Amino acid sequence: MSELSSLPVLLVVACALVDVDGRVLLAQRPEGKPLAGMWEFPGGKVEPAETPETALIRELEEELGIRTQPACLAPLTFASHAYDSFHLLMPLFICRRYQGQPQSREGQALKWVRPRDMRHLPMPPADAPLVASLIDLL
Ligand code: C5P
Repeated sequence: MSELSSLPVLLVVACALVDVDGRVLLAQRPEGKPLAGMWEFPGGKVEPAETPETALIRELEEELGIRTQPACLAPLTFASHAYDSFHLLMPLFICRRYQGQPQSREGQALKWVRPRDMRHLPMPPADAPLVASLIDLL
């Protein structure tokens, strides 16, 4: 883990949603947002009074229209990355059990990808180092 910089900390939570074939869902950051075009693990900001798990359950429903529960979320690893204006802390959970078929609810492109193939996709600098843990696991 890198040391925390003096930048403000942003707590984001992300999910490796895994299908029966061991592929993982990635979402493409839309035009107009920072890091547009990059493929990221779905998730989002942890709001005050939320735990990472409750934030992730909310984000998965808002972004993908799927439902899951805290018992179905297992912590896998986390990112600690200094961007220009904030320091991102981002736990990555793995989820294999959820209800519904993931659909793009916010206009983002979605793609199921084998972890070893993620190395060929542009990913945010916080997300890319997390792929090694997925390759080891899946
Ligand atoms: O998604 P959102 O724009 O709210 O995320 C805030 C910031 O966190 C992004 O600008 C990006 O720098 C970072 N982020 C990331 N990887 C993710 C989600 C967010 O690096 N999977």
